[in-house]
Amino acid sequence: MQAWSRPEIAALTPDPRRPRVFDTGRGELTTVGPSDDSAARLYVCGITPYDATHLGHANTYVAFDLLNRVWRDAGLEVAYTQNVTDVDDPLLERAEATGVDWRELAAEQTQLFRTDMEALRVIPPGDYVGAVESIPLVIELIERLMPTGLVYQVDDPEHPDWYFSCSESADFGEVSHLDRAAALAIFGERGGDPERPGKRDALDCLVWRLAREGEPSWPSPLGQGRPGWHIECTAIALAHLGEAFDVQGGGSDLVFPHHEMSAAEARAATGRPFARAYVHAGMVGYQGEKMSKSKGNLVLVSRLRAEGVEPMAIRLVLLAHHYRSDWEYTDADLARATERLAAWRAVTNDPAALPADDTVRAIRDALRNDLDAPAALATVDVWVAASAAIGGDDTDAVGAVVTAVDALLGVKL
Ligand code: ZN
Repeated sequence: MQAWSRPEIAALTPDPRRPRVFDTGRGELTTVGPSDDSAARLYVCGITPYDATHLGHANTYVAFDLLNRVWRDAGLEVAYTQNVTDVDDPLLERAEATGVDWRELAAEQTQLFRTDMEALRVIPPGDYVGAVESIPLVIELIERLMPTGLVYQVDDPEHPDWYFSCSESADFGEVSHLDRAAALAIFGERGGDPERPGKRDALDCLVWRLAREGEPSWPSPLGQGRPGWHIECTAIALAHLGEAFDVQGGGSDLVFPHHEMSAAEARAATGRPFARAYVHAGMVGYQGEKMSKSKGNLVLVSRLRAEGVEPMAIRLVLLAHHYRSDWEYTDADLARATERLAAWRAVTNDPAALPADDTVRAIRDALRNDLDAPAALATVDVWVAASAAIGGDDTDAVGAVVTAVDALLGVKL
């Protein structure tokens, strides 16, 4: 599948220090990226394309864009894979409810997502991969899992779908560390089917859903059907990035069951950890609740853009909050970001300003310290305010800040 076009990325002299980020599995900060000069490998779970990009999505993809940029700043190549879940229950339900062909809905919403990512200057993944085009990879992975005895057909004569036995798999719980009661409750809330009769265990997850009347399906040795969600990401990541890649990323609502179950499948297939670190972005709320399609309280990136909001101001709204924090969007966020952008540009439009070496160094330090974008913005604010007040005659400083803000924060001044 085609990704979106790549923004121009300003080049700084590399600073080889690797970033530290919070690994949900270990519960602490950890250094991520290869210790040699091989490529850093990143997988971020993509959208299910049935509704437009809201600020919650944008928050996640901008967070991992920072990681991508810091690795590049360290002189590393980044192998980045992102999926598009272009066949799944929510997409099919929305298509059915609105009378649109599911393929058209997926294509249209994926395209809108691309334009939003482009506007926000998010560096595209090298491999942007759809679920439908990856069905052969999923089938191959399920067959690879067969000898482990962890894949079985549910005891249901009408629809004997294929499941993966999570709770019997090694190290299940290594990502989320949830106890069984909490895991069961969350599994039910987030698209799982703990109540389905005929499973060996309530926490087992679907890997291949056999064809139902009126649903899309593909031929396979498992029977005509379609992939489950978790195995889709496992198969895509293993095929495109290999085993034990550096970072598996997504929103914190993916910690369980999605990342836990994908990791369990990968470990069972390869005997190695799926990823070296599991990193999660916080949730964005609006009007008192988590922004979500089901609640209808969405602030869409495309709508803000259509209202004339400058995409760099939207990006600054997101960067003003630490990627791991949960926060609530208000109009005041946008007003502050718009003001900040104007203040920065007022100074960087001048030919000279105060010296900026320490500022550039501080932006790099902040981002290497768990992608602390708010601290990076604060350091630019200080330089901007001082330069605006005092002036300054350093003719290299403006170029240095503009380049650093572009390369590291993705904000074009
Ligand atoms: Zn995923």
